[in-house]
Amino acid sequence: MGQIIVKRQKGNEGEKYINAFPKLKKWINECLCCHEKGYNPSMPDKITTVDGSLEVYFIKKYFKPLPLNEDGLCPQCEKILNKK
Ligand SMILES: [Zn+2]
Repeated sequence: MGQIIVKRQKGNEGEKYINAFPKLKKWINECLCCHEKGYNPSMPDKITTVDGSLEVYFIKKYFKPLPLNEDGLCPQCEKILNKK
């Protein structure tokens, strides 16, 4: 009877969060190759002027740190592409 099946897609909550706060997108890295998303590891602990804001907390909760190289590739893709 009207049962709601919630698909728990990985990264979905993070997507929603980032879409709700587009100004935070600048701290989110996306790999050009595998489209893995994560936060910029050089993100400071405080990214807004609002005291006690939870942006960083939620970004770190929903995303993992994802460093990108100068080509916009995550370390995994970089490794694979350099294996040739
Ligand atoms: Zn990648």
